[in-house]
Amino acid sequence: MPLLEVESVSKAFGSLKALDKVSFKVEPGEIFGIAGPNGSGKSTLFNVITGIPFGPDSGRIVFDGVEIQRKAGHKIAWLGLARTFQRETSFDKLTVFENVLVSGAYGKPNRSPEEERAGALEALDIVGLPRSRHGRLAEELSVFDRKCLMLATAVAMQPKMLLLDEPASGLTRPEIETSIGLIRRIADLGVTIVLIEHVLTFLMSLSQHLLVLNQGEVLTIGNPKDVIADARVIEAYLGTRKAA
Ligand code: ADP
Ligand code: MG
Repeated sequence: MPLLEVESVSKAFGSLKALDKVSFKVEPGEIFGIAGPNGSGKSTLFNVITGIPFGPDSGRIVFDGVEIQRKAGHKIAWLGLARTFQRETSFDKLTVFENVLVSGAYGKPNRSPEEERAGALEALDIVGLPRSRHGRLAEELSVFDRKCLMLATAVAMQPKMLLLDEPASGLTRPEIETSIGLIRRIADLGVTIVLIEHVLTFLMSLSQHLLVLNQGEVLTIGNPKDVIADARVIEAYLGTRKAA
């Protein structure tokens, strides 16, 4: 059974069809890539799946056997679906440790304070944020450390599935290599990952399946090698392809 099934999901903003009958399935344990030019609907897709801040206008979304398209965001998170945002969304005036603690408590209510602290420390270890930085304010971190903090806050929710929105944006080449390793490490822990990335090479080395969006529609889904060789994908990226 797929862990996530998206069936004919649409979302409009006025006359703009940001998502138009999008369908795909993600199997447990895989890294599933989503690419597409700017404005093609990638972040909107994560928004409607997680219900933050809104669900879809129409269509069906099933996560781990449960229909979620009409559920509130926090209830979806409690089922084990965590996400990061394209722009870093930390509490700037809280410390690194406090940020992770708050997120863990949101995603996994009903744990004891000891379990919450242990979970936060584990998440910070997984993303490689050393103890010496746990007491820093989030706003004091480097761009790369902020990305790691975002990953740690998502990991602290102990999700079954993690949706990552452009985790490589704003990073240098060596930092991108490090974050590819980090994402692999999280996947190896058994977390299924859906990864949005504008940079196709990032997805090539990580994902087993790759979906390309263009103007709110699925242009193609397949193995990354075939998808990237598809002339329609190149046209979409060059902006010379119109919606079907
Ligand atoms: P991507 O993440 O692929 O760059 P987005 O999902 O952010 O694309 O946006 C898809 C389209 O929907 C864009 O044309 C964008 O301007 C529009 N859009 C996204 N969010 C909103 C919103 N809250 N209100 C109005 N238009 C939006
Ligand atoms: Mg986006």
